[in-house]
Amino acid sequence: RPVVFMENVSKIYPNGKTAVQNVSLEIEEGEFISFVGPSGCGKSTIFNMISGIIEHSVGKLEILGTTPTLARQQSTDVSFVFQEPTLLPWRSVLDNVMLPLEFRNVTKQEKLEKAHHVLKMVGLSEYTKALPRELSGGMKMRVSIARALVSKPKLLLMDEPFGALDEITRQNLQSELLRIWETEKMTVLFITHNVFEAVYLSTKIAVMTPSPGKVESVVEVPLPFP
Ligand code: ADP
Ligand code: ADP
Repeated sequence: RPVVFMENVSKIYPNGKTAVQNVSLEIEEGEFISFVGPSGCGKSTIFNMISGIIEHSVGKLEILGTTPTLARQQSTDVSFVFQEPTLLPWRSVLDNVMLPLEFRNVTKQEKLEKAHHVLKMVGLSEYTKALPRELSGGMKMRVSIARALVSKPKLLLMDEPFGALDEITRQNLQSELLRIWETEKMTVLFITHNVFEAVYLSTKIAVMTPSPGKVESVVEVPLPFP
């Protein structure tokens, strides 16, 4: 059973705009797939349909065997990371990371353990008490990634997560993300403008073209020499 199943999926917005047309795609467990294409080609629309933020208009779309809904994303399974880290400014790093666990039926102790675990994975163990404004851009992005990982999602959606970072910070976070992806064995869907980033990170690349948004081809990225 694929993690993401799309068959002839189209999205027509209420104003009549066809943003995505006839996309068929299967994404298997453990895949790291990047969506590459110019802005306006429908990348965010595809992500929003997968996460259940918006409904698709035509075709068949299933995530882990069921129709995507926002409720499901909130409960578990699917996590999001956006380009702008959306942290609550009045909450510490630790409390921001624990947010997705707030309404879970787990003890306070377990929540703390999980949060500390993911903060260690992203190298922020020494910043648990800091407030977001005390952190650099790269560190805020790490907090966002930790928060997305704390619920152990099966599917991680990342929309241009490193687009606003400087080159060195970007490279550090790219290698960190790869390490985490390898250990956590989750499926990652990644949006980027940057073809080099896509080639470096992904097992597969979906190349998109605009007007209307189509997945032109899906290419496998060959592994580098061991
Ligand atoms: P990308 O993420 O690749 O930049 P989007 O998915 O945001 O592309 O947008 C795809 C196309 O759909 C664009 O032409 C955009 O203007 C249009 N679009 C996006 N959201 C809406 C909306 N809510 N209503 C109408 N058109 C939209
Ligand atoms: P990178 O994400 O590549 O590590 P950053 O710019 O996020 O680059 O930060 C580099 C390092 O500088 C961090 O790991 C941290 O140790 C330190 N640092 C950055 N910003 C702050 C800050 N506001 N207060 C204390 N240390 C910081």
